[in-house]
Amino acid sequence: MIDKNYEEYEIIDAHAHIFPDKIAENATVNIGRFYDLPMDSCGMSSRLAESGSKVGVSGYLVCSTATKPHQIGSINEFIAEECRKYPEFIGFGTTHPDSADIAADIEQIRSLGLHGVKLHPDFQLFDADSPKAYKIYEIIEGELPLLIHCGDNRYDYSAPFRMANIHRDFPKLKMICAHLGGYQRWDEAAECLPGLENLRFDICSSMAFLSRERAADLIRKYGVENCFFGTDFPMWSHEEELDRFLSLGFTREENQMILADNFKEFILSD
Ligand SMILES: [Zn+2]
Repeated sequence: MIDKNYEEYEIIDAHAHIFPDKIAENATVNIGRFYDLPMDSCGMSSRLAESGSKVGVSGYLVCSTATKPHQIGSINEFIAEECRKYPEFIGFGTTHPDSADIAADIEQIRSLGLHGVKLHPDFQLFDADSPKAYKIYEIIEGELPLLIHCGDNRYDYSAPFRMANIHRDFPKLKMICAHLGGYQRWDEAAECLPGLENLRFDICSSMAFLSRERAADLIRKYGVENCFFGTDFPMWSHEEELDRFLSLGFTREENQMILADNFKEFILSD
């Protein structure tokens, strides 16, 4: 039976996307096309806050990916601006391995008060463990956490084994491996990612495709203390991802860890 008592939990969405209002519709349609999935909503800050408030979400990791290097500066400014408007937003900035000055991008991210860096190798077209991506990790290791998209059947850019390589070469880099370590590549992820220190996992855009048993198994394999709830908004509504999560059968205490405590400890405590 699904525990519908949302209000007894503190809830943080560890993976949400926002876009400026005037491009949000297009951006959302494009993501839906890329993944061939229906999108629940439209990636606007106001819609995000509205969707989350229905189930009492009190914090959101918000990000947006620069598919071209020239977009980096304005996207980071946009994320920071939205974080000023919505105090419940926890912004992650963007950079790109082809950026002419990665150090300056990271400096911008820091000076804007953003909390980490989001990369999406499949949108940004680079191998996650390539030398040019390593230029980013060299700068942020031990300084800023990385949220990285993981997994796709069609591409190898963000394959789980690449995450293990990054960890091997940057053991102090705090990484959140999205989508339980590998969207559509959960078997591979389960082989190479459990037990690695400084790796965490968000569980969004995964539960819809896995049986409850398999999703719960994978979370246990990574460790309940290493997993974060998220929605991949505007892909899913907060209510549907939360219902999926609460049906996995974890204890109240474990639910609370995954819904907010683990994230706060990893990202918000210094
Ligand atoms: Zn994402």
